[in-house]
Parts: sequence; structure tokens; C-alpha cells
Amino acid sequence: MDHRLSSEHEELRRTVEEFAHDVVAPKIGDFYERHEFPYEIVREMGRMGLFGLPFPEEYGGMGGDYLALGIALEELARVDSSVAITLEAGVSLGAMPLHLFGTEEQKAEWLPRLCSGEVLGAFGLTEPDGGSDAGATRTTARVDEATGEWVINGTKCFITNSGTDITGLVTVTAVTGRSPEGKPQISSIIVPSGTPGFTVAAPYSKVGWNASDTRELHFDDVRVPAANLLGEQGRGFAQFLRILDEGRIAIAALATGLAQGCVDESVKYAKERHAFGRNIGSYQAIQFKIADMEMKAHTSRLAWRDAASRLVSGEPFKKEAALAKLYSSTIAVDNAREATQIHGGYGFMNEYPVARMWRDSKILEIGEGTSEVQRMLIARELGLTG
Ligand SMILES: Cc1cc2nc3c(=O)[nH]c(=O)nc-3n(C[C@H](O)[C@H](O)[C@H](O)COP(=O)(O)OP(=O)(O)OC[C@H]3O[C@@H](n4cnc5c(N)ncnc54)[C@H](O)[C@@H]3O)c2cc1C
Repeated sequence: MDHRLSSEHEELRRTVEEFAHDVVAPKIGDFYERHEFPYEIVREMGRMGLFGLPFPEEYGGMGGDYLALGIALEELARVDSSVAITLEAGVSLGAMPLHLFGTEEQKAEWLPRLCSGEVLGAFGLTEPDGGSDAGATRTTARVDEATGEWVINGTKCFITNSGTDITGLVTVTAVTGRSPEGKPQISSIIVPSGTPGFTVAAPYSKVGWNASDTRELHFDDVRVPAANLLGEQGRGFAQFLRILDEGRIAIAALATGLAQGCVDESVKYAKERHAFGRNIGSYQAIQFKIADMEMKAHTSRLAWRDAASRLVSGEPFKKEAALAKLYSSTIAVDNAREATQIHGGYGFMNEYPVARMWRDSKILEIGEGTSEVQRMLIARELGLTG
């Protein structure tokens, strides 16, 4: 398999790299410090077509693929992870469920606006009582026999892109019945923002990703039309497994970007900073650290591109996606720690991008499946069960 980019993918990479340096880098630090969602940057990303990258042109997408999405995420995260996760969640969690499982009417209604970035979508799976064990969902949805509507009750937590001024919908998983053996039957339902009874809490105070939107959501007798069911009733579990398998590739690309950003910043700093009469980059201890960081970012890139290539060509990719997510998130944390060390005291100052990268790295080992969950998936794919 050739992991070098086609000319189209390379052109996309260069365009996003330029955007990240010229538009994101000069502004994002202030948004981050103010814990503010960067609407003007997100609007620009929409104009560039980034939210429509892997979707068909008939719905306003760019007609690209998951590799294209990963390339864009990697280049954005080299500079900043808040904007990268806004794109990742908007595409993989917000729009992709509609694209994969939606009816023609649902796609026609939502995809053009999601692809243009005019509205953001979110995916509400995690609940206060559990995220890894997502099958233990407590949110319920029942059909009101008189009106045919779904009536939803429950709480979701840590939901990305769910409370911005441009959030249009949240797809939520809910228990819609029980199997004859008493197992919960989970379904996915589209809840438009502003539906009565659907309330969005204030943004969390987070360790990182401070210019991205994360909220707790409450559903109190929320009524939506029967037509808002996404795909078949009872297929919610299978749907989110698929969404998360794909999402892991996207998070792996994002983590690779963060890891590479740590290399970029460290090389620059090591050439500028002097100690004991020489620049610190002339000391082998620093050189070796940076060489190891580059090795990890490079290997991580090969891993996510391999998983993405398998997805694009229709081959099984579950194990490779889990491997890529596990590896890239681990080395993103490693690289962020080393980059901060190389920057000395300045690495602890928020005005330096590596400080932001350090704060943004830890969540990569938690979101869209913790590292333990990735190990469980890999072991299962190797035939180890129980
Ligand atoms: C900033 C942010 C954004 C997020 N965005 C979204 C979003 O958009 N949509 C969404 O649905 N969710 C989102 N999440 C939730 C995220 O996916 C969950 O936090 C994650 O899946 C872990 O779930 P949990 O927090 O409930 O931890 P738990 O599942 O309670 O896990 C706690 C610890 O126990 C370990 N553990 C659990 N089970 C096992 C086991 N069987 N064996 C070994 N170890 C185990 C875990 O690995 C972890 O270390 C977001 C979270 C954050 C912090």
C-alpha cells in the first residue's frame, strides 16, 4: 500500500496547512484563553468546504473521502486542536450518521447545511453514568400512540458542538424497547436544537480544547416526529459502533497532527534558545528527544493512513482503526510532554503553543473510546474473548 498522497490530497494538505498557519495560528490563542468558540474561524472552514470533505457533491459535499478528512484534521491539529475537534465532531459525529443511515428526506434536509458549515451537528451517546459501556444507555424514547411522536427523556454528557449558536441538531441514542430476553433495544433519533424540553447546559470548564464547545444535555419529555428516527428502530447500537470505528481514524489523524505540531515547535525553539553558549538544538540530548518525537509522529501517520485506506477501499478496518487511535493518542501525550520539557519554563506559559498542546493531548486517550477500550477491541480482533 502506497501511503504517499495523490496530487489532489497533497493540494488539500497544502491548502489546510496554509489556512492553519495564516488564519488559525494568529488568532486561536486568544479564543482559547477566553474559552470562546471561534465562530469566525469555523465560518471560514465552512467556506473552504472542510465540513463537506467526505460527502457527495449532490448534498453540497466535496466528494472526497475519509483520507481527505484525516489530512485536513492532521494539518489543523498541527496548529490547534480545538478547531480540529470542531471539524472532527461536526463531520464524523454530526453529519456522518445522517449520511450513512439517514433517509433521502433527512439527508436533503440536513446535509447541505452541515456540509457548508452553516449548521453544526452533534452526536449524543455518553451519559453521566457511563461512556465506555455505551450499551448501558439510560435515556429512553417511547412512541406516543396518539400522535406517533417520539418522547425522549434522559441526560447526555460531554457532547461536542452541542450548544453553539450554529448547532442545528443532536443525534441521540435512546432505549426504545426491550428484546424478548429483556436486552435494551437502542435507537438513534434526531433532535433539532430548540425543540421544547431539550436544554443545553453551560459549557464545561475543561483542562483543554478550550475553544471547542462541550455540554451536558437534558431531555425532558422532548417530542420529535416519528420521521426523526435515524435508520431502523433497534439499530442504534450497530450504528454507533460503526460511527466510532470511523471516528477513531479521524481522532488518530488529529492526534498525529498534535504530535507533529510538537515536533515543529520544538525544532524551531531548539534552534533559537541558547544555554551554556550554544543553541540547545546542538545538544545531543535535545536532538535525540526530537528525533524520537519525529519517529513517533511519522509512524502514527502511517497507522491512521493505513486504517483510512482500508476504510476507503471497503476492506475491514476495525482493528487498524483501534491500533491507530491507541498509538497516536499515546504518542501525542508523549510528544506534548517532551515538547514542553524542551521549552523549559516557557513551555508552561500559555502563550506558547506547546502549552496548549500539552493541555489538549490528554483527552485523546479518553474521547471516542479510551485507550483501555482500544486494547479491548484489538484483543477481541485477535480472537481473545471473555
Ligand atoms: C471533551 C470531551 C468531548 C467529548 N465528546 C463527546 C461527544 O461528542 N459525544 C459523546 O457521546 N461523547 C463524548 N465524550 C465522551 C467520551 O467519549 C467518554 O468520556 C469516553 O468514552 C469515556 O467514557 P467515561 O467518561 O464514561 O469513562 P468510563 O467509561 O466511566 O471509564 C472510566 C475508566 O474506566 C476504564 N474502563 C471502563 N470499562 C473498562 C473495562 N471493561 N476494562 C478496563 N477498563 C475499563 C476506562 O478506560 C476509563 O479509564 C467526550 C468527552 C470529553 C471529555
